[in-house]
Amino acid sequence: MTLTAPRGSAELIRAEAPVLAHNYHPLPVVVARAEGAWVEDVEGRRYLDLLAGYSALNFGHRHPALIEAARRQLDRVTLTSRAFHHDGLAGFAESLAALTGQDMVLPMNTGAEAVESAVKVARKWAYEVKGVPEGAATIVVAAGNFHGRTTTLVSFSTDDEARAGYGPYTPGFRVVPYGDADAVADAVGDTTAAVLIEPIQGEAGVVIPPEGHLRAVREITRRAGCLFVADEIQSGLGRTGTTLAVEHEDVVPDLVLLGKALGGGIVPVSAVVGRRDVLGVLRPGQHGSTFGGNPLATAVGTAVTELLATGGFQRRARELGAVLDADLTALHGHGVVAHRARGLWAGIDIDPAVGTGREIAERLLREGVLVKETHGSTIRIAPPLTIGEDDLHRALTALRTVLAA
Ligand SMILES: *Cc1c(COP(=O)(O)O)cnc(C)c1O
Repeated sequence: MTLTAPRGSAELIRAEAPVLAHNYHPLPVVVARAEGAWVEDVEGRRYLDLLAGYSALNFGHRHPALIEAARRQLDRVTLTSRAFHHDGLAGFAESLAALTGQDMVLPMNTGAEAVESAVKVARKWAYEVKGVPEGAATIVVAAGNFHGRTTTLVSFSTDDEARAGYGPYTPGFRVVPYGDADAVADAVGDTTAAVLIEPIQGEAGVVIPPEGHLRAVREITRRAGCLFVADEIQSGLGRTGTTLAVEHEDVVPDLVLLGKALGGGIVPVSAVVGRRDVLGVLRPGQHGSTFGGNPLATAVGTAVTELLATGGFQRRARELGAVLDADLTALHGHGVVAHRARGLWAGIDIDPAVGTGREIAERLLREGVLVKETHGSTIRIAPPLTIGEDDLHRALTALRTVLAA
């Protein structure tokens, strides 16, 4: 197809329909460039990005230090495969282990791959270390979870839209209500390999478990002799005001899953980080990934750990998070029914009489603010941690305007 003239937003959106699988229902905005917390569409209209790539853009679009790290790496070597060593692997693993207080790192690419890897490691650990009879290992998970889109991960999703039509489903998972420590305690036993939860459920609408829940899960898993696996793919890396969300309860899981922001908004980078006696069950040939730990990924991933090592982004998430929380509280009774916030991350339940989450997102788009509904009448706010306080206020003013209309 020859293009005679650049195509506008409406034309580009129309052009997608016949050729692009319809697995998303995007807002009608066609992004052409971005910087910091701002994106610009094909016609040059500017929008504040309060979704930040579902927290893949914690450092904003095109953070200079991350772009520089990627540029430098592009000029040297970008891919080796793990058949060879490369000069960025050791540094990446050392800095990520140090940042998270863990021993070892298994680099992968997407979040779903990190979760899949943890499922494999937990099962192998159960058979080889705990002594669970072959094929009997179970993993306890929570209702409302989101861990990714693979056949195994949707097998234990409780969201019918994500799960239906993809069977036969992978067995070996047991679902308990989220935030219910008694249910976790009842579900674990001799054949339990792990309890796998999100410390805060992102896709469910930024659902925060009751105070003390993570400590309770840590204690239950310790007593039951099974692993505590924390999926911090969305909650981790500064979003909640700490490097990891489990730090809010001073908890150290056996495995922590990272992704999204680990790639700096440039490349997909994920990792399983954990204890040596757990990740140590993997031996050569038993797991792998062509792209996992590639030189470009580790260059960007290392630069991400360096940004977080300063503590400045975590502090900013706490400070701006307090502003966000206060502004949202002021909207209760003005179109907002309830909200949940931790750091610079909030789930907002909109009064259904005012509109669905989708409708609010569409109205905010017209006001120059990008958000996305999670489901029903809940929208999620997760701006880049680099957003200016004036821009955050601007976005919240737009929300107030939209809710009042
Ligand atoms: C996004 C997400 C995943 C999946 O990550 P992908 O990179 O989309 O595969 C897994 N777990 C959580 C908590 C997530 O938010």
